Amino acid sequence: MTAWAEIDLAALVTNTATVRERVAPAELMAVVKDDAYGHGLDEITRALAAESITAFGALDPQTALRVRQLAPEASVFAWLLDGHDELGVLIDNDIELGVTDSDTLERVARENRRSRVHLKIDTGLSRAGVRAERWPNLVERAAQLERRGAIEVVGVWTHISEASDDEDTASIGRFSTAFELAVAAGLNPRVRHLAASAASFARADARFDRVRVGAFLYGIAPGDGVGPTELGLRPVMTLRSTVLEAVDGVAAIGYGGVAGMLSDAAGAVSVAIGGVRHPVLAVEDSRTLIATGDHAVDVGDVATLFGSGDSGEATLQVWADAMGTIGEELVTRVHPGIERRYRG
Ligand SMILES: *Cc1c(COP(=O)(O)O)cnc(C)c1O
Repeated sequence: MTAWAEIDLAALVTNTATVRERVAPAELMAVVKDDAYGHGLDEITRALAAESITAFGALDPQTALRVRQLAPEASVFAWLLDGHDELGVLIDNDIELGVTDSDTLERVARENRRSRVHLKIDTGLSRAGVRAERWPNLVERAAQLERRGAIEVVGVWTHISEASDDEDTASIGRFSTAFELAVAAGLNPRVRHLAASAASFARADARFDRVRVGAFLYGIAPGDGVGPTELGLRPVMTLRSTVLEAVDGVAAIGYGGVAGMLSDAAGAVSVAIGGVRHPVLAVEDSRTLIATGDHAVDVGDVATLFGSGDSGEATLQVWADAMGTIGEELVTRVHPGIERRYRG
């Protein structure tokens, strides 16, 4: 293998403890969507379950069902339910369902098995969720369905931008109103959840009963100059590769792919070999060219693309900032064929 991703499970455990302590007494829901942000769903879920994580956020049905097998005792939450005929299977497996519109509410209710649902209000992001003007009708209907035993409303939730404090404050206000309306309609949702990594870390008023955290568990910082160290987090993934060829001040390392995570790397980032950083010149389909100048670089040398910084490499956040994206985006695009090597 000419490229691999090292996954530091000890760093994952440390980050999890850091986040937990920070958000307490709110409960931590560990988000493991997108193959645990490219870190490998099975190993990450097992490691988190061993840390007694009580709630997992899975996004899609397939991920949720896998998490259910790996963490039989935990609460598992899925919210991408459209276009799937799998509601029955999810309910059989005790997956909690994130309901984002009235059609989904009716579909779940038709299963008539007192399935546990979390109703989502749109508090300004306008991505998914029931709009404020339709919320009173939705909670009335949900209360009716609950009285019939078709569903059980266990939660109310929303998603916020975490890009502007003022917008987030407005969203938190709308969320509290939505919760009160749900209670007034006769519902008794025990779990309110709104915040992802950034807001859960920064704002006590965003934490409510549970927070849904992905990025920070993996040591992925929000970017814009804020790195993991500033937050007390450790990067979990280190991406490495070997030198395939070294001629006249240019070396080729394994792993390229014009459409992959390296597509915007040329001219933006550098790769560390023996503690020295070398700029990326070009990304070809199956290899990446770096400028090594006068440095002695040999075939077989290990190149570190991004990671903890321990080998002189830049962090993922530096890469993401330089490539005009966010860390989550890059790690989820590390090719699935790249071996994940676990330690810790
Ligand atoms: C991905 C996701 C999260 C986690 O976001 P991070 O910023 O990675 O912590 C939380 N909630 C929802 C709905 C998500 O889709």
